[in-house]
Amino acid sequence: MEITIYCRQSADCPDKADRYAPRCGCPLWGEFNWTQPQTALDGKKLRQGQNKWTLKTRTKAEALRHAAKLENPEWQWSQLHIPKRKHRSRM
Ligand SMILES: [Zn+2]
Repeated sequence: MEITIYCRQSADCPDKADRYAPRCGCPLWGEFNWTQPQTALDGKKLRQGQNKWTLKTRTKAEALRHAAKLENPEWQWSQLHIPKRKHRSRM
């Protein structure tokens, strides 16, 4: 799944015309095509087809991190179920 990161430009942003050059510090969102059946992620509905998802950040590096999580939601869900205390091998 490919996620396009774009900038949700605020009305008074000087870079308003360019939503794919996020250097202005407006909130970053991801746009992607979900091909699997409708589901929920982070408590939000993920529907089949095009979705717009907030990446909860204004920096590109963070946005890429969140996008990577979105690209593999199964991984994220499995992380949520990992118990805090890890079983260590008895050695
Ligand atoms: Zn902006």
